[in-house]
Amino acid sequence: MRPAQPPPLVSDAAGLASHPSTIGVVGAGTIGRGVAQSFAEHGFSVVLVDIDAAVLTSATSSMRQLIRLQSLFVGSEERTGIDVEASLARIKTSTDVADLALVDFVIENVTEDWDIKRAVYQDIDRITRPEVVLAANTSAIPITRVAAVTGRPDRVLGLHFMNPVPMMHMVEVMRGVHTSQKTLDLAAGLLRALGKEGVVVGDFPGFITNRVLMLTINEAIFSVQDGVASACDIDRIFKGCFGHKMGPLETGDLIGLDTILNSITVLYEGYRDSKYRPAPLLQQMVDAGHLGRKTGRGFYDYGGIDVR
Ligand code: NAD
Repeated sequence: MRPAQPPPLVSDAAGLASHPSTIGVVGAGTIGRGVAQSFAEHGFSVVLVDIDAAVLTSATSSMRQLIRLQSLFVGSEERTGIDVEASLARIKTSTDVADLALVDFVIENVTEDWDIKRAVYQDIDRITRPEVVLAANTSAIPITRVAAVTGRPDRVLGLHFMNPVPMMHMVEVMRGVHTSQKTLDLAAGLLRALGKEGVVVGDFPGFITNRVLMLTINEAIFSVQDGVASACDIDRIFKGCFGHKMGPLETGDLIGLDTILNSITVLYEGYRDSKYRPAPLLQQMVDAGHLGRKTGRGFYDYGGIDVR
């Protein structure tokens, strides 16, 4: 069972907010809305910020639907009996990043584009209290680079949540060159409060998950492009032969093909290794706006509607 209210905020000797109760979530797209939902379900207050008001509206309605749906999941006792309206009432949405002034911990989930993220970190570093920890939910961008544009590099780490966030219990935790142990401990406590577990990894582009996964998805896209097999048959092979729950192309549609392209490009530039070159078919699908579930069409057809 989750606590009705998180513990009150106190500060430790190093000035870190050691029991955050209000979480700032920046970016309400595919993953940010899941992060906001997870914290709200566990009794935290959330300030959810996105530059696009329409995204905030769609995030609220999809969270309402998902809390209802996910609480019906068989075998997921911890998710039964979640109060949909009480959870949503804990989430304040805003298009103004200045509303992060009073939050205790920030999780950033904006577009996987360094120019966009850099500007966001400069804003949140200026707006939030200096003791607040900033967590990047990035697929591939190094945490040390993120930390370098802030005035608090020891209080920056990576928290790579998995989609759908409320259902996935493992989080990849990235330690940048300057990330302090206190920051890692604080994040570990927060993850525990969500019923999640973190695995700490080093700070190289793509970390572990996406260094391996993006290469797999990209190679599966090359295989479709080369006419070796259809997307559906490639996914069937991964599910039937390896026991995976989803194939690489279904996973690409779930993550968002624009995010896949941005991530594999970060890996390509980060390692300067041609094995990470994006498949031309991936680029073409992104150019065509076929981004997967978020646009209703990717390697599969979702009827042209956002089914995140
Ligand atoms: P998305 O395109 O679905 O959402 C990104 C959101 O950021 C959009 O709603 C956009 O309006 C918002 N945004 C852009 N600029 C902003 C700004 N200046 N201020 C506030 N909001 C802004 O992307 P996504 O898939 O949710 O990915 C977001 C981040 O999370 C990326 O770094 C991605 O690598 C990472 N991530 C994604 C997944 C996944 O499964 N999709 C999983 C883990 C991590």
